[in-house]
Amino acid sequence: MTPTEALNHYFGYNTFKVGQKQIIDLVLAQQNTLALLPTGGGKSLCYQIPALLAPDLTLVISPLISLMKDQVDSLQQNGIKAAYLNSSQDLATTNAVLAKARNHELKLLYIAPERLENQFFLELLQTLRVSLVAVDEAHCISQWGHDFRPSYLKLPELLQNLTTSPTVIALTATATPQVAHDIKQLLHIPLENEVKTSFARPNLSFKLVKGSDFEHYLLTYLQQNPHDSGIIYASTRKKVEQLGALLTKMGIKAGIYHAGLSEEVRKQKQEDFLYDRTPVMVATNAFGMGIDKSNVRFVIHAQVPGSLEAYYQEAGRAGRDGLESEAILFYKDADLQIQRFFIDNSSADEAHREHDYQKLQALTRYANTEECLQRFLVQYFGQDCAACGHCTNCTDTREKQDITKEAQMILSCVIRVRSNFGKKIVAQVLAGSKAKRILELEFDQLSTYGIMRQKTKEIETTIDFLTASGYLTTSSGQFPTLHVTTKGYDVLRGNASVYARSEKVTKKEQTVTDSGLFEHLRKLRRQLAEAQ
Ligand code: ADP
Ligand code: MG
Ligand code: ZN
Repeated sequence: MTPTEALNHYFGYNTFKVGQKQIIDLVLAQQNTLALLPTGGGKSLCYQIPALLAPDLTLVISPLISLMKDQVDSLQQNGIKAAYLNSSQDLATTNAVLAKARNHELKLLYIAPERLENQFFLELLQTLRVSLVAVDEAHCISQWGHDFRPSYLKLPELLQNLTTSPTVIALTATATPQVAHDIKQLLHIPLENEVKTSFARPNLSFKLVKGSDFEHYLLTYLQQNPHDSGIIYASTRKKVEQLGALLTKMGIKAGIYHAGLSEEVRKQKQEDFLYDRTPVMVATNAFGMGIDKSNVRFVIHAQVPGSLEAYYQEAGRAGRDGLESEAILFYKDADLQIQRFFIDNSSADEAHREHDYQKLQALTRYANTEECLQRFLVQYFGQDCAACGHCTNCTDTREKQDITKEAQMILSCVIRVRSNFGKKIVAQVLAGSKAKRILELEFDQLSTYGIMRQKTKEIETTIDFLTASGYLTTSSGQFPTLHVTTKGYDVLRGNASVYARSEKVTKKEQTVTDSGLFEHLRKLRRQLAEAQ
């Protein structure tokens, strides 16, 4: 049977999705392969078809128990011999499944990664005749991914001890170049054996909403889209319960999902959502990995998640059927605090915490960029695409204003405080704050004191914008300090202009005397020139 025949015979599809055939061909040629396909891109078939065509067993490592059962059920319905093993099963069941595997009565055996931590079980697996090992959600193997699972690190050992030298296929929808590199190294995948289709999701409209009253926003949105199914993500269980209660009170059929609920309840909630009994789901990030609900029309983040990887994966659960859908991030600076709290209270070591802070900063850049949001995300994952034309930035019709002067004031202030401070302090200096902490700064550090007094409200937004646009950069860590980049120095030297959409610092409010700024810049430029 050819791959195309298998596609048709077992799954009832006529054509492969982008990338599938290339991946399957590589795997069938016994090449270890990394498959990078977006959510909904059809990763499962990439190992299921080779599994059907291979002589021996295929082991599938997949992180979610509920998902595993669904997959196996649907394979069995298609007449494929599949089973799964996770730690919730008793010994008799486990033995029965292993006996089947040994007797060639199975084509696919799904295994929960935590099972690999049991040495006895691991050794049992090693006695099987295995043609292929499929590692789903392979980013879980990298400590630099957003969802590291230590049990995945048992995989190299398993692979090494399997006597049949199986082919390895790793699959993921969210890998930065660094994570992709980790996966390849740990699973012995040659650098060139990477198949990557575009990460862009043209049917998703990315929206960024900045405001303070999420509940009002949400109720209005649901009123305008009363028949749609969607997911609302929040950062804490408390927030999930509170939003869930609000929606129920307003007569909206909504369910909630978080890790604090019993497994039974979670299963029920998930099914109610899948079968549209409660078409709206309010959840923490515990919900969703591998959820295959095709008609999700919107994914709204009530609060910022911890990284763009997490964001893209969660947002990507909208529109798997290819129809137009929305991915909305409701952004409030204050919500970053929750993520900082998570980082500070995680058990991770210093280096990882540092890394987590960097990821959070990438999110801040996303929230403040004026570039196409889709493009920004795709570029974050090391690819490129054209502007989408329908995200909130692509459709922003406000005119761009020249804010070069304001940018220069901010950039000078950052230099004057010797890059020792973050956004808050810089904004306070520029605003001429009377706070003790500010007045205690050295005389020279205060040379831009109060020069944006008339625009206090916009200073922080403008700093965020300058950071998102690469004029400023932030150090990592809990208290990031601001630094002027090469691009920023060009602006200070008067060699480049900065444009931003209104709302930020607007021309009308221009009150700083131009001569004062001019004088100040002249001094700063002279010093910059001398420093070179
Ligand atoms: P992923 O794991 O990449 O998110 P899945 O493997 O769950 O995606 O597949 C997403 C959906 O696409 C599933 O409903 C699947 O049946 C469907 N699908 C996969 N391959 C094809 C294909 N070649 N033609 C049509 N539909 C497909
Ligand atoms: Mg999948
Ligand atoms: Zn766009």
